[in-house]
Amino acid sequence: MTNQPARAVGDGQLFIDGKFGPSDSGKTVEDINPATELPICQVAWGGESDLDRAVQSARRAFDVGPWPTMPGKERAGVLYRIADGIEAAAEDLALRETLDVGKPITFTRGFDVRAAAEIFRYYAGMVEQLEGAARPAGARSLQYTRREPLGVVGAITPFNFPLNLAVNKIAPALAAGNTVVHKPAEQTPLTALKLAEIMAEAGLPEGVHNVVTGDGATVGAAFSVHPGIDKISFTGSTATGKRLIAAAAGTLKRVTVELGGKGANLIFDDADLEAAVQSAFQAAFFNTGQFCMSGSRLLVHRSVHDEVVDRLAAVAESVPIGDPLDEATVLGPLAHRAQLDKVIEYVGIGLAEGAELRSGGSTGHEGPGFYHQPTIFTGVTPEMRVAQEEIFGPILTVLPFDTDEEAVEIANGTPYGLASGLHTQNIRRAHNVAAQLQSGIVWVNTWAQFENSTSFGGYKSSGYGRELGPEGIEEYLQYKTVYINVD
Ligand code: ADP
Repeated sequence: MTNQPARAVGDGQLFIDGKFGPSDSGKTVEDINPATELPICQVAWGGESDLDRAVQSARRAFDVGPWPTMPGKERAGVLYRIADGIEAAAEDLALRETLDVGKPITFTRGFDVRAAAEIFRYYAGMVEQLEGAARPAGARSLQYTRREPLGVVGAITPFNFPLNLAVNKIAPALAAGNTVVHKPAEQTPLTALKLAEIMAEAGLPEGVHNVVTGDGATVGAAFSVHPGIDKISFTGSTATGKRLIAAAAGTLKRVTVELGGKGANLIFDDADLEAAVQSAFQAAFFNTGQFCMSGSRLLVHRSVHDEVVDRLAAVAESVPIGDPLDEATVLGPLAHRAQLDKVIEYVGIGLAEGAELRSGGSTGHEGPGFYHQPTIFTGVTPEMRVAQEEIFGPILTVLPFDTDEEAVEIANGTPYGLASGLHTQNIRRAHNVAAQLQSGIVWVNTWAQFENSTSFGGYKSSGYGRELGPEGIEEYLQYKTVYINVD
């Protein structure tokens, strides 16, 4: 396999009004492969005027149509064809995602691309089911509700699951009849551009979906204040999310934000320890820990703490790390240099705070690539920064607990509330603890298991709004009541 995806698609270009073309400034930047540190291709560095062109295009496609008023079965037909197109281009998409993010090719094939097609099909199936309701009214009156799209949706996505997080927004937004302007993360724009081509070929009308690549501080920030955007769906850091919400208030646009996490994964003394350890490893280190729903805090009952840590360290020390294009690889590099630097900094912070390094702790690697070993800290106390702050890398902090109450208190003791999990064979404990955990999703005896119907989103500082499931499409609809007096 080469270092290049099918370069023809979108290389150095934006996708606006159904066509690829350069940014107004003509500026491009190198897109870097995190496994080799070599450039993959040039990417257009869009600016505010490019965003404005994209919004105008999406605005026309919404205001003039036909997308929002297209009969449901036709709109669904386009979405089904997009799913088929994703499957037909699966190898190209998987290669792009692997080169851009450093994710192992077995995962981009087996999860990222497969799920993208499935999510389009899931929401295609909902298009014809967006029913309103007849409501009680006076004897000579009729009252009913309509569910209508919002208008132009701005989708802003991060670098860790570029294709999936984009599709989580774009598929339900389109199914509801909206039009979209998407800004992928500056480090990982390649699948967004291929997706644009697939969508156009599937018959999506011009302007319904636009892609503007560029950086967050200029193009991303311009979304919040643009009067032509009706709603922003954002996934990224809590700090950026807060800035975005404040900036969006001026135009009163709707905003949903899926932000950071510091997931707590609880292992009780009655758990199936071998299964719990395997699950805890995946929870912490899947996607090299760059996963807002990661289980980056492992809370273990004191009576099984040492055994769990020993087994976990054995898994961490034997996991295949390396070239993401190699099918044997389980952990690839971090997606970009700043992320690696952040991980290295947090290893130092953990050591300075008095945490004990049980496994990993360095890049473990010579030569190019943003690799870092899976790293396990024990002797961690709940108030330490490594137990409180989202690191977004392969660092797991392990904390012991003695009682269920203490476990819940530690689990809930961060500002975040995106995902949590617990391992127990006691069904009463499972339900009781799940009810007490402050997070948008709780996994029991598993982690990160998803169906298309598995909605997720934040409690507390992890944001608001939900993605996937029936709740996912609600975020892109508004209700209208029609009250008719026939007297
Ligand atoms: P991460 O830590 O995942 O890079 P960010 O929140 O910085 O998190 O970035 C997530 C997405 O938000 C990226 O597409 C980025 O370009 C974009 N972004 C960054 N700053 C802003 C901003 N001020 N307004 C809107 N989007 C932004």
